[in-house]
Amino acid sequence: MSAPLAASVAVGDRSNLSHGASRFRIGIVGCGPRGLYCLQSLSDELRRNRCVRSLSIDIFEPSEFPGAGNVYASCQPHYLKMNFAAKHINAWADLGESGAERLDFVGWLKQRYGTSVDPNGFAPRAVVGEYLHDCYRKVYAELEEFAQVTLHGCRVSRVDRRVRRWVVQTDRLEAEYDELVLTVGHEGWRTPQPSQEQTKVEFIPAFPIRKNLSVESIRPGETVAIRGYGLTWIDVTLALTTERSGAFIVTGDNWRYLPSGCEPRRIIPFSRSGRPMLAKPNESLFPQPAALDAIWERGRDAIDALQLPIHRCDRGSEFWQILTQSAAAAVNHFRDRSFGTSTEVQNWFDDWCRGTMKPATSLAAMRRSFRVATGREVPDVGWAMGAAWRNLYPAIVRQVSYGGLAADQWKTFWHIAAEMERIAFGPPADNVGRMLALIDAGIVDLRFLTSELQIDSSRRAGTCTIGNGIDTVAVDRCVDAVLPSPLQLHSAGPLQGLLEARTIRRLHGSEGIEVDRLGRPVTEKGRVVDVLSIIGRSTEGCVLGNDTLSRTLHDQPQRWAAEVATKIQNRKENE
Ligand SMILES: Cc1cc2nc3c(=O)[nH]c(=O)nc-3n(C[C@H](O)[C@H](O)[C@H](O)COP(=O)(O)OP(=O)(O)OC[C@H]3O[C@@H](n4cnc5c(N)ncnc54)[C@H](O)[C@@H]3O)c2cc1C
Repeated sequence: MSAPLAASVAVGDRSNLSHGASRFRIGIVGCGPRGLYCLQSLSDELRRNRCVRSLSIDIFEPSEFPGAGNVYASCQPHYLKMNFAAKHINAWADLGESGAERLDFVGWLKQRYGTSVDPNGFAPRAVVGEYLHDCYRKVYAELEEFAQVTLHGCRVSRVDRRVRRWVVQTDRLEAEYDELVLTVGHEGWRTPQPSQEQTKVEFIPAFPIRKNLSVESIRPGETVAIRGYGLTWIDVTLALTTERSGAFIVTGDNWRYLPSGCEPRRIIPFSRSGRPMLAKPNESLFPQPAALDAIWERGRDAIDALQLPIHRCDRGSEFWQILTQSAAAAVNHFRDRSFGTSTEVQNWFDDWCRGTMKPATSLAAMRRSFRVATGREVPDVGWAMGAAWRNLYPAIVRQVSYGGLAADQWKTFWHIAAEMERIAFGPPADNVGRMLALIDAGIVDLRFLTSELQIDSSRRAGTCTIGNGIDTVAVDRCVDAVLPSPLQLHSAGPLQGLLEARTIRRLHGSEGIEVDRLGRPVTEKGRVVDVLSIIGRSTEGCVLGNDTLSRTLHDQPQRWAAEVATKIQNRKENE
C-alpha cells in the first residue's frame, strides 16, 4: 500500500483530531486536480520561505486516486477521452526548486512507458489520472519535509466557523484548521435531478459509467434515450458500443462501425436545442498556421484593453466586435477569393442560434466540422468562431472574472458562452468520426433530437416513448447525460451548508459563489471571510471557466499558497 493511502487507513472512528497548540493546521477538502494544484503551490511556497514551523496538512478525499479524483479515476475505461490535447496537460505551475523531476504529461508518458505519444492527440482520462495521481504522490513526499501530512479517505459533510478557525466534520471525525480550502469541484458523481415534467421517468446517471451502463442495466437490443447531446452523450454512446466489443475502423476518409450484437438497438439523443458540439481540430491533421498567432494576440490585447466593468457584450458591443473580427481575419487566412467580414461571422452565429436545430442541419454541422477538424475541408466560419473563442479565452477570463462584467450583462454572456462551449470546446475529431459512424450504421438515431419523452403508462412503470410528430418510438431505458450545473450544489455537501448559513453568497448576475483572487468567499454582508478559501467550479462566473485541467488559465492556487506561507512565517516571527 502506498504511503499516502496507508495514512488514510490510520484514521480511526469518529474522533476529535486535536493537534499541538502551536501547530499550524491546514485542511484541504477535495483532492482532485485543484486540490493537487493547491498542495503543489503550497509545497513550493514552503520551500521558498524555508518554513520549518510545526505544520500539519490534512487532506480529505474519498476517491481512490487523490490528485485524479473521480473525473480522472485511472480505473475508468480508456475510450473516455480528454477534450484537451496531450501537449497542454501539465500539473506543475513551474519547475520548482526542489530538484525533483517535474514532467508534463507527454514527458511523463515517455518516462513511465517509454512511448512517444502524439502531443496533438487526446489521451484517455484514465491515463491522465495516473499522471495526476503520480504528481500527487510526488507533492505528498515533498510536503512531508515540512509538515505532518495525513490523507483522510472520507467525504466532508459540513464546515463551520469556530472563533478564528474552521471546523471540518465527516462521519468519522471532527477537526479544526487555521486555514481551510474547499476544492470539491463536481462534488463527486451525483444522482441527476430531472426537471419537473420528467419526474416520472427513471433516468440512469451516466457516471460511474461501467457500473451504471452495464449489460445488466441496459440489455442488448433495447432502445435507449439519452438526455443531453454534449460530451457526456458521446461518453455514454461509447459505453454502449465500444465497451460492448463493437469496433470502429477507418475506411478512406470515414469511420465505420462493426457491431458486436450486444449494443442497444437504437440510441436516441435528445436535447433542448439540438445543436451539436463541433469537432476540435486534430492539429496533426490540420496544423494551425503560425500566421494566426498575430490575429489571436491582437484579439487578446483588444479584450484586455476593454474598460471594466464591461457594460455590453451583446452583438452591437465592442466585445463582440473583437470576437467576430478575429474570426473573420482567421477565416480570410484560408480564402483566396471571397473576403470574410465580421458581418458574415455574425450571420453565421445568428443562423446557428436560431430556434431549435433540425436533425439534418445538426448532422450536417457535425459532418462538416469533422472534415475541417481533420484537414479534409477548407476551414469555415464555424471553425473560425471556435478558434477565436479558444484563443481569446485567456483574456476573456482575465477581464470577466471577479466582477469584470456588469451584473445585467450576465444573461447575454451566458447565452454566448453556452453556444461557444459547443462551437469551441467540443470533442476530439476522432470521437465525432465515431458518432458519425454510429449514425451511418443506424444505431444512433437523430430523428428525435429536440423531442421530449412521454410517459408510457401501457408498459412497465418508468418506461416512455419519444415522438417527433411523424414517428414515435418506445423507449426502454433513459440515461441522463447532463451533469449538474455549477449552481446546483450537493444538498449534503459543505458548500450548501455555508450558503444556507449565509456565510458565503453568490455574485449578483453570474450567480457563482463570490470569492476574491485568493479564493476567499464573501459573506452575505459583503465582508471577506478569512482563513477559508473556495477554489473551483462552484465559483463559476465569479471566476470564469475554472472547471478545467488547465494550470495556466487561473492562478488562485498560487495566490492562496503564497498568502498561507506568509501567514505561517508571520506567526512564527510573532511567537
Ligand atoms: C466527465 C467529465 C469529463 C471532463 N473532461 C475534461 C477534459 O477533457 N478537459 C478538461 O480540461 N476538463 C474536463 N472536465 C472538467 C473537470 O472537472 C476538470 O478538468 C477538473 O476535474 C476540475 O478539478 P477539480 O479538482 O476542481 O474538481 P473535481 O475533479 O471534481 O475534483 C473534486 C474532488 O473533490 C472530492 N470531493 C467532492 N466532494 C467532497 C467532499 N464533500 N469532501 C471531500 N472531498 C470531496 C471529489 O472526490 C473529487 O476528487 C471534465 C469533467 C467531467 C465531469
